[in-house]
Amino acid sequence: MDIEQFRKAGYQAIDRICEYYYSLQDKPVQSQVEPGYLRKALPDAPPDVGEDFQEIADDYQKLIIPGLTHWQHPSFFAYFPTGCTYEGILGELYATSTANPGFNWSASPACTELEAVVMDWAAKLLGLDAAFYNASEVGGGVIQTSASDSALTTVVVARSRYQRASPEVSTQQLVIYCTTQTHSLGKKAGLVLGIPVRALEVTSEDRYGLRGETLRRALEEDTARGLRPFILIATVGTTSSGGVDYLEELGPVVAEYPSLWVHVDAAWAGVALACPEFRETCQLEAINKYGDSVCVNFHKWGLTNFDNSCLWVRDRTDLINALDITPEFLRTKHGDAGTVIDYRNWHLGFGRRFRSLKFWFVLRSHGVQGFQDYIRRTIRMNDKFIALLRSSLLFKLVTAPFLALTVFRLVPPASSLPLSVSSPPQPDADSDADAETEIETETETDSATAPLSEPQLNALNRAFYARVCARPDIMLTQTDLLGTFCIRLAVGAARTSEKHMQAAFDLLTEEAQATLKEWDW
Ligand code: PLP
Repeated sequence: MDIEQFRKAGYQAIDRICEYYYSLQDKPVQSQVEPGYLRKALPDAPPDVGEDFQEIADDYQKLIIPGLTHWQHPSFFAYFPTGCTYEGILGELYATSTANPGFNWSASPACTELEAVVMDWAAKLLGLDAAFYNASEVGGGVIQTSASDSALTTVVVARSRYQRASPEVSTQQLVIYCTTQTHSLGKKAGLVLGIPVRALEVTSEDRYGLRGETLRRALEEDTARGLRPFILIATVGTTSSGGVDYLEELGPVVAEYPSLWVHVDAAWAGVALACPEFRETCQLEAINKYGDSVCVNFHKWGLTNFDNSCLWVRDRTDLINALDITPEFLRTKHGDAGTVIDYRNWHLGFGRRFRSLKFWFVLRSHGVQGFQDYIRRTIRMNDKFIALLRSSLLFKLVTAPFLALTVFRLVPPASSLPLSVSSPPQPDADSDADAETEIETETETDSATAPLSEPQLNALNRAFYARVCARPDIMLTQTDLLGTFCIRLAVGAARTSEKHMQAAFDLLTEEAQATLKEWDW
């Protein structure tokens, strides 16, 4: 392709992207293809001679788009949202147009300097303490690929700090702390590093947040057994339920174990800190007081295209001490003088994408107010959905909603129960048979709900969820909260409006009724 062919193909690409967004609402949210569809459609080797780009671009439309799940669809409520704005798309385009691995300041000064500046902007947007700013020259922020990478990096750095402070401690004594509700990133870090992970217990009464006393007991037990917990991965806004660990209780306990690192995973909920009214529930004060590091994914609910996982640390020398390897070929005048950031020493990889460009575009285009408006608007839409659920006799909230996440399940009202509750299909022996927990709801109408056993309710909800999954026009994901199978609805796609919340509720009601009918209710 020459430069003029690129110009033509580029204009067409932008036109087609616009068409994609104009027609997005009419597409199925979930891809309807069967596994292996693409292998059947593509040759099994690359072409011997180069092909015309128009044909390639047409094949993207014909073969790839049908195999995409449309995360930007207004009825996408699964997992957590992933940001995508036109500014972000353009940022990606410009960034890739100069193909720049920016690992050292001198490898492209703008890549490093823009990242250092926008990470400070983002820290200010969220109200993080000035200690985390790059401008402090003590702490600082770096953009990573994902929250899992951020956590893994942090665990490596915390281990290094711990072993420097206590060289007598052997690697076999080390333990990572997280909770039963921590994202898989906790266990993944342990798996990668070969370090045991202890998942501390939380309860539904505590809304799935870790309490100070639980941490204290675990620390005392493990220390007495000769183990050395060196990092606590706390979460603000867990994936399953939006649970928040009680950082203000955990902090004083941690203070008794000075080498214990506190990493705050606020991958999803952290962006809500942009709005002052959510800072208390998201424990900003405690994050600022006790966090050694904090991670917020702006590529989730923060309007920025994947990837843009922001990691701040209180002390950059911890990162550099753990990760700096500088062979001769990487030495530079400014790096040697220590007058610049060399971001290769702030993450596990080496080369890095110029992610700060899209982030800069997004933050400038929206401004603080635009960003806040977006967060508030999505929370308002979730509130609308919650009001609809509460007005229904079919659904119950499993736990109090948090920000833009609702966790609920189908609970048929007692009045609609068949004479014998043994008539519905029995749950799979291996599914939830031993789940004993009573259903947790935040409503006061439990007495009106069906006296079904937990395994029956779980089986009913699995059947209900299977029906919802079969629908092309919505996407939600399921979870298990300490034995309770439930359904999550997370709002955040930029094109979702109130009418989509109503449509989601209507569709769920329709499928709930159909499930009950199928089960002879
Ligand atoms: N932490 C929380 C609370 C999450 O909800 C998720 C993903 O949903 C992650 C971490 C993982 O994010 P990433 O894909 O960036 O590793």
